[in-house]
Amino acid sequence: MVQMSIVVPCFNESEVLAAFHDALVAALEPTGSAFEICYVDDGSRDATITILKDLAAADPRVRYTSFSRNFGKESAMLAGLRMSRGAAVVLMDADLQHPPEFIPRMLELHQHGYDQVVAQRDRANEGVLRTALCRAYYRLVRRCMNVEVVNGAGDFRLLSRRAVDALLALPENNRFSKGLFSWIGFDTVSFTYENVQRAAGKSKWSGRHLLNYGIDGLISFNSRPLRLAIHTGLWLFLSALVYALWIIANVLLDGVDTPGYATLITAVVALSGIQLATLGVIGEYVGRIYDESKRRPHYVVRETDETATVLGPGLSLEPAGQARPEG
Ligand code: UDP
Ligand code: MG
Repeated sequence: MVQMSIVVPCFNESEVLAAFHDALVAALEPTGSAFEICYVDDGSRDATITILKDLAAADPRVRYTSFSRNFGKESAMLAGLRMSRGAAVVLMDADLQHPPEFIPRMLELHQHGYDQVVAQRDRANEGVLRTALCRAYYRLVRRCMNVEVVNGAGDFRLLSRRAVDALLALPENNRFSKGLFSWIGFDTVSFTYENVQRAAGKSKWSGRHLLNYGIDGLISFNSRPLRLAIHTGLWLFLSALVYALWIIANVLLDGVDTPGYATLITAVVALSGIQLATLGVIGEYVGRIYDESKRRPHYVVRETDETATVLGPGLSLEPAGQARPEG
């Protein structure tokens, strides 16, 4: 019986992977619990998969799955969770930004009955602009979203088996983990550690990625932008009504005057702008519905040292010869 699974998504991490693995094993062995390490290679274009295969060959506690292309960290985490068999599962990054030495502490808190133990980083050693932007984003999120998302609380966390099962039961394609973790509920405890820089290699998140990720997060957890459109429409209608009454009163009191061309054109342009923006918001949601309705699997597996259980529904590894070229 595996007590603990460590799930590690890796994308082009060949530079740090060996160091990470050593640090991880060094942190896990003293705890005396039976553990397994589930690596997910997210379509890396470097030597990551070779390193993973070597690790798996050398240590039966290491398992891996490799994607056919880069599907993104969310999909990699999902694959890792599906692979995991432990009574507790720890999600962490491969770049040593999530220090393995905190795992015993997480395990201890879990044994006190918490289903989610979150290791939360502070924002030390990070650019001023990035810190400010993140803070603003989280303030916005806290106002708009129906779930609570905490600044600095990333994916470095321990989940109990029932929390993992709850996550796996959510079928959506557009996965925003930060929101999903909070959506499933359960008793959660967190502690803060000092932010560390990645050990080697570079971050895969550009500014544009982060922005899109932020928008995804906002939209996948609420329909308030649509509500905002309704409110704007109502207010505009009311102001138009007041303006119309004012014109009628003017006509009745002073006789007919010629209304201004400027007023007319301003009203038309402003209204078209609002209508287009609203259409855009609706389009975002329709696009998401379209995405979900295709019911595509979250990822495609190139190879794994597992049986078909890790694959999404409807996928199989046949023919077996192709799936495991080196056995
Ligand atoms: N990652 C992944 N797929 C991706 C991008 C990243 O599996 O498309 C993994 C990456 O290998 C690392 C973790 O996600 O283990 C965090 O990535 P990164 O360190 O680049 O993000 P940051 O720490 O800068 O937010
Ligand atoms: Mg990182």
